[in-house]
Amino acid sequence: MNLIDVNTMFSTDSKCRELLTRLRFPEGPRCLRCKAPVVLLETDKHLFYCKTCDYQFSVTAGTVFNDSHLPLEKWFVATLLICEAKKGISACQIQRTLGIGSYKTAWYLCHRIRAAMKEASRMLDGTVEIDETYVGGKFRKGIPRTEKQVVIGIRQRGGQLRLIHAADAKAKTVREILGDNLSEDVEVIITDEGTVYPFALNKQQRAKHKTIQHKKEYVSGLVHTNTAESAFSLLKRGIMGTWHNVSAKHLQSYLNEMVFRFDRRKNSDLFIDTLRHMVTAPVLTFEKLTA
Ligand SMILES: [Zn+2]
Repeated sequence: MNLIDVNTMFSTDSKCRELLTRLRFPEGPRCLRCKAPVVLLETDKHLFYCKTCDYQFSVTAGTVFNDSHLPLEKWFVATLLICEAKKGISACQIQRTLGIGSYKTAWYLCHRIRAAMKEASRMLDGTVEIDETYVGGKFRKGIPRTEKQVVIGIRQRGGQLRLIHAADAKAKTVREILGDNLSEDVEVIITDEGTVYPFALNKQQRAKHKTIQHKKEYVSGLVHTNTAESAFSLLKRGIMGTWHNVSAKHLQSYLNEMVFRFDRRKNSDLFIDTLRHMVTAPVLTFEKLTA
């Protein structure tokens, strides 16, 4: 799906709603309250009506689209632009490209799309590569204005990627993160020679641990962390090149966006898949986002 396709296929509000309805209710629209089948009212407001419990709702009710004044056509194009931007796209760029009135509206729009780009967690197994990186950290006249943030990357070879904003890179923190993400069935754990790993891994994990010496041998047979590093370099280019000032508070949501796109980089339905997530993800209010 490219920009021309999106502009042609989803050029009107009702065309957008038709797709969202199919994505939200693959087996036909149902009442949000009582799950009974509903009818589409013959008005221009595109409301569904449930006779059983006398309730009206739109296809976007209770989703990230909730209460938005932006036309759905703009939501669709913004979603495509975010899906297509391997290194991310700034709210400023979205504002200009779509002619959105205020930066705040564009920023909120991007965050709502991003909030839907989240995966249900599954434990990783097989061969996993673990690496850490540091992002952000601004200095002015030698005084740190913001601290560098730690991101732990875990990549199952041939499988999913995780990028986790960690409180720090201490063994206890890393151990908790690995506990939340690695299955007991994991076969091989590959890291660089970072001093934290011997302490962060538990006994069973240590037995499966292989390290790579970066300076001496970049790739030694199957023991490498190249896959995690390619995801990291994408992340760093995103943060440094596109988003500039990602605050610590929102870092995890940018990481989720990166991961969502990275895990689907060979998926030709990324746009539709993202919309499916958007029309099934819960409301994200501006108050909650900025709290
Ligand atoms: Zn009902």
